[in-house]
This record gives sequence, C-alpha cells and structure tokens, in this order.
Amino acid sequence: MTQVAFLGLGAIGWPMARRVADAGFELTVWNRTAARTRDFAAATKARAATSPADAVRGAEVVVTCLSTSKHVASLLDGADGLLAGLARGALFVDCTSGDPATSARIAERLAAQGVAYIDAPVSGGTSGAEQGTLTVMVGGDRAALDRARPVLASFGKKIVHCGGVGAGDAVKAMNNAMLAIHVWSTGECLAALSRMGVDPRVALDVVNASSGRSNTSENLFPQRVLTRAFPRTFRLALLDKDLGIAAAVAREQNVPSPILQLTAELFRMAHAELGEEADHVEAVRVIERLAGQEIA
Ligand code: NDP
Repeated sequence: MTQVAFLGLGAIGWPMARRVADAGFELTVWNRTAARTRDFAAATKARAATSPADAVRGAEVVVTCLSTSKHVASLLDGADGLLAGLARGALFVDCTSGDPATSARIAERLAAQGVAYIDAPVSGGTSGAEQGTLTVMVGGDRAALDRARPVLASFGKKIVHCGGVGAGDAVKAMNNAMLAIHVWSTGECLAALSRMGVDPRVALDVVNASSGRSNTSENLFPQRVLTRAFPRTFRLALLDKDLGIAAAVAREQNVPSPILQLTAELFRMAHAELGEEADHVEAVRVIERLAGQEIA
C-alpha cells in the first residue's frame, strides 16, 4: 500500500488525514503542536513523526494542509525540514488554500530535488472532509494528479484539474471570494429587512425559493446566524487570507475588480475586529454592529 505522510492536523487537516488512514494507506502524521500529532496517532494506526523530515522519509505521497503557502515554504529547509527527508520520485500534494506565486516557488525547489508538486486546495468544509465529499481543485501536471488521485479520493468526491501549478490556488481563492461576497451581501440585506420588521426567517424562506439564493442563504444563515450558534469551523482569518489572494490575482491579471477589492477590505476589517479565532460567518457581527440591528 502507498506510504503517505500528512502534515497539518488543523480543523480540516485532521478529518482529511482521518479519511486517508481509514482508506488503509500506510500513514505518518506530523503537526507543529505535537499534542495533536500524538492524539491523532492514538486515535488511528498512523505513526506520529517528530519532525517534517521524519514524517516524509520513505513517503511516496506527501500531503500538506497548513494555514498558508508561506507556512508550507517555511518547512522546506533545515536539518528537520522537508527537503532533508523527501526522496527523489516522491509526489508533494499541497492541500493548503495557498497563493499561486508561493506555490510556484515551492514547486521549483521540489523539482530541483526530483519531487513533483501539485496544489490541491479543497472546498466543502470540515463536514465535507469527515464525509469524504470535498471538492479538490488541482494545479500542476495531469500525470502527477493521476498519481495522487487514489489518496485524494479518500477525502475528495469531485477532483478537477484546473491548469498549471497555482491554478488550483487561484480557483480556490476566487471561490472563497464569492463565498465572502455572499456572506456580506446577505448580512446587509437581512439587517435592512429586520429593521423594517420583516422576520429574517420569512425573508430567507422567500430568497431560498427565488433568484437571490446561495449556499450562504440556504445553509449558513439558517444554521449559524439565525440560531446565533456561530460554530467555529473555518476561521475568519483564513477567509481574509483567501480574499487577499483573490484580490491580488485580479490585480495581476489587470481585471477591474472593485467588488473583490472592497470585500477583501471589509473582511480585513472584520478580522482585525473579531480576532484570530472567530469563524468566517461571524463577519456578520460587524454588519450588525454597524447597523445597530441584530439579524434574528
Ligand atoms: P487551522 O487554523 O485549524 O489549522 C492550521 C494548521 O496549520 C494547523 O495544523 C497548524 O498547526 C498549522 N500551522 C500553522 N502555522 C504553521 C507553521 N508556521 N508551521 C507549521 N504548521 C503550521 O486551519 P484549517 O485546518 O481550517 O485550514 C487549513 C487550510 O485549509 C487553510 O489554508 C484553509 O484556508 C483551508 N481550508 C479550510 C477549510 C475549513 O473549513 N476549515 C475549508 C477549506 C479550506 P498548529 O496545530 O500547531 O497550530
């Protein structure tokens, strides 16, 4: 069975790695906070590695799922770093929602050591990871994707080749920009309707049978805002990071993008106000504060 290393056991990395373990791959895991590595190994048959180099030694496929591409790049060097452990012919799959330029630099450094690289960010949330129904968007060689496919299929249902290295990152960033726009616009619309005295449940019932509907109106607002539950599944800090990537891609492509740039600014503001641990949907709290109106 293919030997797999998985690095980054965060909110989504953990259930993804769990699916890899449950699919029967020979798995080694590593996480910066060692307690999570130990807890994961105790809960599965995976081996707990003591460093990135230790994790990838002997691995045929290496999967990373860290906060940012820069964090992945920071693990490459040093005696305990990835490059010290990776063998020629290995395949590196970065599931971080990364940025295309850093991914290209990582790919280049790995290529110099005979290691193939694909960016393979995911969508579908922590519940999609648990159920193995994530969408995986891939940048890099098709042949490398084909080699990675059995591992990706353990947590992904729809696996799509988007283009060369960085194309997966760019598609992911734009997807999340659309998510952010939905969250912010739905929040403003419902705050105004609530102020008018329209019950937001009634408003969402109408919207969800009409042309303004989205995953945000169908799921996020009913389950997280109207209930005031605001579960923490995807940090606002990470969505802020994704919007920065999306806004930069649009600028680099010389595409006028006022909505993208404004949404990036709004989420940067919400991140600064609500802190590192807030969930992305909690951005709605900023709209409520500005409006002096709760959506409830
Ligand atoms: P978390 O914040 O829960 O976890 C981040 C992970 O990155 C942890 O394992 C953390 O280690 C590790 N990490 C952070 N900085 C470093 C560093 N300097 N060196 C080594 N490891 C580091 O994030 P998620 O699991 O939610 O997200 C991971 C990626 O997946 C992100 O790019 C995110 O945008 C993306 N994503 C997340 C989704 C979600 O629903 N949560 C959905 C789709 C994509 P430690 O435990 O030590 O802090």
